[in-house]
Amino acid sequence: MLDIIQLLPDSIANQIAAGEVVQRPASVVKELLENSIDAGSQNVQLIVKEAGKTLIQVTDDGIGMSETDARMCFERHATSKIRATEDLFAIQTKGFRGEALASIAAIARVELKSRTEAEELGTQIIIEGSTLKTQEAVACPKGTTFLVKNLFYNVPARRNFLKSNAVEMRHIIEEFQRVSLAHPDINFSLYHNDQEVYNLPKGKLSHRIVGIFGKNYKEQLASCAEETPHVSVEGFIGKPQQAKKTRGEQFFFVNNRFIKNSYLHHAVMNAFEGLLPENTFPFYILFITIDPRHIDINVHPTKTEIKFEDERTIYAIVRAAVKQALGVHNLMPSLDFDQDVNFQSIEISSLDFEGAGLESHSYAPNPKEQSSSNDSYERFKNPTLQQNNQNNWEQLFENNGTESDEFEFNPPLVPETEEQNIEIFESAANDLNSSNPFDEEYSEKEGKNNMAFQLHERYLVVQVKSGMMLIDQQAAHERILFEKHLASLENRTASSQQFLFPQYIELNPMDFELVKDLEEEIRALGFIYEVAANNTIIINGIPVDVIGGNEKELFEGLLEQYKQNCDVFSLSKKENIARAMARRSAIRPGYSLTNEEIQSLINQLFACSNPNYTPNGQPTFSILDLAKLAGLFN
Ligand code: ADP
Ligand code: MG
Repeated sequence: MLDIIQLLPDSIANQIAAGEVVQRPASVVKELLENSIDAGSQNVQLIVKEAGKTLIQVTDDGIGMSETDARMCFERHATSKIRATEDLFAIQTKGFRGEALASIAAIARVELKSRTEAEELGTQIIIEGSTLKTQEAVACPKGTTFLVKNLFYNVPARRNFLKSNAVEMRHIIEEFQRVSLAHPDINFSLYHNDQEVYNLPKGKLSHRIVGIFGKNYKEQLASCAEETPHVSVEGFIGKPQQAKKTRGEQFFFVNNRFIKNSYLHHAVMNAFEGLLPENTFPFYILFITIDPRHIDINVHPTKTEIKFEDERTIYAIVRAAVKQALGVHNLMPSLDFDQDVNFQSIEISSLDFEGAGLESHSYAPNPKEQSSSNDSYERFKNPTLQQNNQNNWEQLFENNGTESDEFEFNPPLVPETEEQNIEIFESAANDLNSSNPFDEEYSEKEGKNNMAFQLHERYLVVQVKSGMMLIDQQAAHERILFEKHLASLENRTASSQQFLFPQYIELNPMDFELVKDLEEEIRALGFIYEVAANNTIIINGIPVDVIGGNEKELFEGLLEQYKQNCDVFSLSKKENIARAMARRSAIRPGYSLTNEEIQSLINQLFACSNPNYTPNGQPTFSILDLAKLAGLFN
């Protein structure tokens, strides 16, 4: 038989390797930034166009490369960072595999200019699809510039697989943040489509954090430090009450390399135990320094995983460091801590829209539009929804009357985990599919004869034919708003309330990109805004039926909720933003309603196409039937 095995040509081998190293533009950004740091640079500039799809350029003032090295660096397994096996156990640099540049050059057009201190002239190389096109001498400053153009030009499947510019830009910003947080002693800047996104002068870590996440992080950082002979942990944690519902601001660095580690994340969460509002994640950025001999970073090509020789000890140290910081900075509760009360007494700079349920009246009326009870009644009046078939609600009243076992005098079901959330959502969807017959005997009067009242500013109690209905006011309002917002998004029917004075909101760059991506949807909801420089937007109006007063909170909450939904569900943009908006602007427990408002809320709920559940699958009402009531007294 003929021999059929052949060695792959380099260009193919490189392209295959590239599949692992370069998933998206952000992967290139990470590799180039890390190379600049390994080269001992003081200034690193990143320029991207079209979220890196057309151009990624990194310029540094590091040691540069000789003429030969500049060619060599594109060879596979070509590295200046390790020479012998022993070196693998003492790695202090970011790179060491020598495959990044070879991979990048296999799937893009790369231009390199570089000069070392010793040379007068630098060298320029153009390489495309692993083929060297030109190399010539050029005049250039000391250091290195890489231009990576037309990423994946020869791998159309990959190119088509890329997400929208906003999504790809988010990934780039994420990598940029990780690298620049790890090196506050280096000047970094980032430009996207000729606009400055970040300009971070070197300085202390706390300055870097504020430079990246915004001025309001200044007050919320507590420093953290713990040292043992073999390991040290230092950095900052955020105050518990500033914890967010979305992940993304949790950073571990081991020997200045960003890593993900759920075990150590658990250590931090454990230290925060009892202090965090439910389902929130605190900010933290922790640097673990350890002798490289006690870790193995050679786990995954993209190198965000790491193995520790003694994970348990590190767990204990991380936990101790965080606990200590919480204690020192008085973020821990006192002994007679009553969670809900105490959380309010800690200065809360931002209103918690996800309210723990015990704050009263988080919605102070906006002085600009002091609302009489008539005005607030208007908020619930919605002619389009009300003319929907009233039958709907009568039917539903009856349907649920028969499911008496469902009733419980408990607060509404709130999913504890993401999985549970999905489960609840799915079971809700199933319930809805099995619709029950309409009971013609239902008397409309019963639900509408002023028998409804508010209980603990949280539930509405209504007499229905089969007994008593309890409505969760927040859940009901969320359902109503969701259907309304979805309709406005689809039919562009939203109307806005305009402000006398515009509100300025400075967003972090990541959220700013998100706003650009969601521009159409946000406007369709009824927001009127302009985009200004420096990641600022100017809000001139909000949707009509939103209770005014804190537009900044509302807007930021909307983005936050949108991101949170992305983590859990795969929704269309429209549905996601309608859900997010409904969730963030629904009335909370503690919001007192007039009789008219109560009636209007009930009518609107049952005019909904799907009144039984919130969009997330939480029940909006429950019925206690007469038999069950009688049973209580037997
Ligand atoms: P690795 O970083 O794993 O060594 P790379 O493919 O990323 O592999 O880079 C190959 C080599 O090219 C590096 O080892 C380094 O010597 C050189 N190099 C890459 N980028 C730079 C840079 N910005 N400045 C100086 N040398 C660089
Ligand atoms: Mg490298």
